[in-house]
Amino acid sequence: MKAPFELAERVLKRFIDHGYEAYIVGGAVRNWLLGLSIHDIDIATSAKPEEVIALFPSTFPVGIEHGTVLVRHDHVDYEVTTFRTEGTYSDFRHPQHVTFIGSLEEDLARRDFTMNAMARDISGVIIDPFHGRQHLKKRLLRTVGQAEARFLEDPLRMLRAARFVSQLNVKADSEVIEAMQKQKCYIQRLSIERVLQEMSKLLQGHWVLYGLELLMATNVLFELPMLSNVTPQERQHLLSVDFNRCASLAERWATFLLALERAAPAAFLKKWRFSNALKNQILLLMQNYHCYKEAEWTAWNLYRVGLHQALAIQRLRAARHEAVESVMEHLQAMAQALPIQTRADLVIDGHDLQAWLDQPPGPWIKGTLANIEQAVVEKQLPNERAAIKRWVKACHEQKKKP
Ligand code: ATP
Ligand code: MG
Repeated sequence: MKAPFELAERVLKRFIDHGYEAYIVGGAVRNWLLGLSIHDIDIATSAKPEEVIALFPSTFPVGIEHGTVLVRHDHVDYEVTTFRTEGTYSDFRHPQHVTFIGSLEEDLARRDFTMNAMARDISGVIIDPFHGRQHLKKRLLRTVGQAEARFLEDPLRMLRAARFVSQLNVKADSEVIEAMQKQKCYIQRLSIERVLQEMSKLLQGHWVLYGLELLMATNVLFELPMLSNVTPQERQHLLSVDFNRCASLAERWATFLLALERAAPAAFLKKWRFSNALKNQILLLMQNYHCYKEAEWTAWNLYRVGLHQALAIQRLRAARHEAVESVMEHLQAMAQALPIQTRADLVIDGHDLQAWLDQPPGPWIKGTLANIEQAVVEKQLPNERAAIKRWVKACHEQKKKP
């Protein structure tokens, strides 16, 4: 189990060789103990930011005011943060001031949960002053220090609690639950960007419903922007959907909003400051879900919406227990059997129509092309020039009849 840290240990060694302390900390240690994959490695060190920069040829001052420098070593990025304590969070966003300190223990004490407050030294020894390992074994989520005080200090930790429940299937300790109930109103002071980031991570966890359950049981969810008026029926819906049927973050958010039956999802997405790209994906999914809700998948529907969206709609249905798996395979086969995939695949174009009917250009071309397209997709007409010409001429004659 050494492999994931092998490269990081070379970074630690450079610090140590220069007389500094350095440890792997936070999520990487936690996930390693849980046997989960490790996506990024954070390092805590006694070296000051400018000393970190001097020590490595490739660094980026990503959060230097908080003591964080990104170090690129052997093509891998590490977030390296100088041991620090934090002052009060005057704006509930950033600590008012950070103080660089000399000890790892103090640095670990500022961290949110005991399972996130462990460090691993270069020889693999785990430093665990708050018994995170023991809590992990019991799958118990506990704060470092008094939960109420830690949530007041940074209310985001309440959302992080639910996010870890969702990602790791840990159980929030009773002190955490009570503190969430008590401090929930401070959620309103958080910046929406931080809220969105944690809620997106929560929705991507494998145990989303446990995370949402915690947020509902403590009423924290209803302190979030535009969620104060969630009805009991909507709560029920939220807890009955299967988010694991979704294949993307956009599908997970669409499923969340569909369960809430929001009349104006665009207003929610704007208020929550979703990126334009994600917002548009979610809106398109929701629109298509409603549009094809009652419809059977015909060749024409499938062609119009495209296989990619059709499968996504099917997954939204599956998340809501409205669909069966076999339809997915059926859709794949249907898409392969479509005579054309786009209008560009038609063997004729507007110039042909003009020449055949000897008509000046006009809106009729677009309408006629659309009719041809549908007839070809529905296999009423082969995608062949002679056949299409006959068909167009016959339609034209028909129209001329009184
Ligand atoms: P992930 O696997 O999602 O990266 P993580 O535990 O690494 O999980 P990060 O948000 O990357 O989470 O934070 C890194 C570490 O910084 C955490 O493990 C925790 O020790 C500390 N931390 C992050 N946010 C807070 C916070 N709001 N309050 C206290 N400590 C925090
Ligand atoms: Mg992390």
